[in-house]
Amino acid sequence: MKLYLFASLSAVFLIGACKRPSLPLAEAAPDASASHVSKAVQEPEPPKPAQLPDGPVVKPSDTSGAAIVLCYHRFEEKPKDALGITPSAFEGQLNAIKESGYTVIEMKDFLAWRRGEASIPAKSCLITIDDGFRSSYEVAWPILKKFGYPFTMFIYTAYVKGGALAGGASLSWAELKKMRDEGVDIQSHTVNHQSLRAKSGKFQSQFASYEEWLRNELAGSKRLLESNLGISVRAVAYPYGEHNQLVRSIAMEAGYEAAFTVYGQKLTFHSPADQLGRYALESTKPRIFADALAMIGGSGGDAGPQVSPAQVMHAAATSMVTIPFEGEVVKDLKPALKADLAVLGDVEAGTVEMRVSGVGAIPVKYDAATKKAEGVLVEPLKERFVTVILTAMVNSKKVETRWKFVCDAVPDPSSKNAPAP
Ligand SMILES: [Zn+2]
Repeated sequence: MKLYLFASLSAVFLIGACKRPSLPLAEAAPDASASHVSKAVQEPEPPKPAQLPDGPVVKPSDTSGAAIVLCYHRFEEKPKDALGITPSAFEGQLNAIKESGYTVIEMKDFLAWRRGEASIPAKSCLITIDDGFRSSYEVAWPILKKFGYPFTMFIYTAYVKGGALAGGASLSWAELKKMRDEGVDIQSHTVNHQSLRAKSGKFQSQFASYEEWLRNELAGSKRLLESNLGISVRAVAYPYGEHNQLVRSIAMEAGYEAAFTVYGQKLTFHSPADQLGRYALESTKPRIFADALAMIGGSGGDAGPQVSPAQVMHAAATSMVTIPFEGEVVKDLKPALKADLAVLGDVEAGTVEMRVSGVGAIPVKYDAATKKAEGVLVEPLKERFVTVILTAMVNSKKVETRWKFVCDAVPDPSSKNAPAP
């Protein structure tokens, strides 16, 4: 039985078929409401060192370190409201972050620290930008690059070009891919940007219950970002920072390791994962920024890792022989991922990259003689519906192609009876 079958692969370009009226650009004021302030922070037991059956003792987690998380929205010369900030004020804030001794860290390092797998500096700062406005790409990104600061984009998927809520200031999937390729972290801000506390709303009529709607907003946006971008989405920002017990439990059930509100605070190793506060910066209230910087004392820190520049160009996909083949159902949580790249032309050595939805980038071997690429799953698959995205340089252009298969060993997330991960 020949294992290689021809799979027809869809083109990478996502077409924005319809233009709908744009969302109002302003968001409601962040929720510095009394309900958040009064919420008691319950500190879980610190994890104990574990003994592996026949391995070394696992190092105890480094529970030291602390972080503040800054939340921005729009960047414009004449801010339309408090959630807009001028480019010069933004640059001034980045300077202040540096001068105050903060290290700007990546979301993945923050999450690794929270899992007990890594340490972070005592004065860490995360920069996040909500919604996916064009100005985050055109204005904020170049300024952040000057500082070499990593940042996270919290995207609500219906606002991406082609989506039901997209507008003139929306980013496209192609632009998000470019950001991804240059090291920008992309996480979820739900599908429709409705308050998750609202038990009735214009999008909820399509769902059997409030819970089902919440699952779609939280798990659905994660799945779409993962399959369209070939990334692992592990963090969510609640729209307007609003949540309740059910929202928090469905967010954790959906596989998020961190869920962010907009109640600014110092985050420690023990801060509850389902309600991590961020400082929502408002241009009319410079005090919020000053308070944020004053939140963690001490000194030291550096400018943070550099965002690597890369020249990226997407080309249309073509037909390719793959394992698993397009649409195949596999049982293995770590199946071999193979592709015959002969159809792509002269692939430049060392340029083949593979990404898997729910996992992220994986190591890949490419044999120039046979033109076969093989990706190695170090971590098991986490999603039932898997998209593999393969990129390579051909004639100095970056080409991208993708295929999908199903992993039967992962429970169907849309099934109500699926066990929580
Ligand atoms: Zn938002």
